[in-house]
Amino acid sequence: MVEPNLELKDIYKSFGTATPAAGLSLSVNKGEFFTLLGPSGSGKSTVLRILAGLEQPDSGDVFINGEKVTHIPPWKRRIGMVFQQYANFPNMNVAENISYGLKGMNLKSSDISARVEELLALVGLEKFEARRVSQLSGGEQQRVAVARALAPNPRLLLLDEPLSALDEKIRREMQTELRNIQTKTETTFVYVTHDQEEAITMSDRVAVLNKGLCIQCDTPKEIFQKPRTKFVASFFRGCNILECKPDIDGKNNLLLAGESIPFKIKEKKENGSFFVAIRGEAISILRTPKNRGKSGFIQLSGHLKSITYRGVYSEHQIVLNDGQILSATLSHDQDLNEGQNVTIVIQLEDIVLLEQD
Ligand code: ADP
Repeated sequence: MVEPNLELKDIYKSFGTATPAAGLSLSVNKGEFFTLLGPSGSGKSTVLRILAGLEQPDSGDVFINGEKVTHIPPWKRRIGMVFQQYANFPNMNVAENISYGLKGMNLKSSDISARVEELLALVGLEKFEARRVSQLSGGEQQRVAVARALAPNPRLLLLDEPLSALDEKIRREMQTELRNIQTKTETTFVYVTHDQEEAITMSDRVAVLNKGLCIQCDTPKEIFQKPRTKFVASFFRGCNILECKPDIDGKNNLLLAGESIPFKIKEKKENGSFFVAIRGEAISILRTPKNRGKSGFIQLSGHLKSITYRGVYSEHQIVLNDGQILSATLSHDQDLNEGQNVTIVIQLEDIVLLEQD
């Protein structure tokens, strides 16, 4: 059985009218790369600060390795932290920064040197030990901050948007680098980001937060392909959200742009509307409709509104017969023209019925 390293139980925290935690419960496994994903203001940083002990919850508890730490001060929790602003000591060199947290630990100076060597190798800064951190690039400074936080072997490492200040190319390199460091050290990482792509490329599991609650906690693949609610679906670029009506055939199927899809709906809604999510890459276009669609697929009619070149793919916007618009992510060689009538084909298993937000 996987051991939980960290548990949040029913955490409430409010600041006046803002409620960054509204009864939040989460469980993070030992050695997991766990990401809190959500828009700005959804409560991610506050949750991280509660984990670190920098903020007290109004109610609820935090457990690390089964021990209740809710009221234990930060310095006794054995937790490392990395922030967006590198938080290194600018006047010290790289080795001094990394060894800083080891000084009070009663270690022999030869053990401290050995640990610094090990960490320099881990973060790929072997040749930089004597360099002042103020003379390093942003990516290098963040490597120092990670090494410094990992030096005392924390029980978990909390990272608050650590790559946000870096440019795109370095950020991507650092995503891979951080994931490698986490795998090598087997340290539990709790990572905060508002960047959906970052969350799904780095994490073992992602918790999507909104208004202080966890809306969905799953593997990146599940979150990306099977969003639970409209909020989660709309967080991921390339996801179409379409409205459906109950079919009046009495079988409780749904109608999407006039076509019946065999989703058995359990309860009728007051306004009668349901929503489904369909990823843009799950859609293909037929120039000539087939008389009989394959089972397990639906065909919808519409016309091609626009084709936008997006480098690795072209985005095709299609207006369905009921006026709803969806975007298909397709290769450039479709031989289609704007304005023409088209039929789109979608595999039923790629249509995700969304729960109410
Ligand atoms: P996120 O990290 O997802 O952007 P935060 O946890 O920083 O969200 O903030 C969540 C909400 O709580 C916001 O509305 C923010 O203004 C509010 N908040 C956070 N910290 C404080 C504080 N110390 N005092 C007052 N309001 C705060």
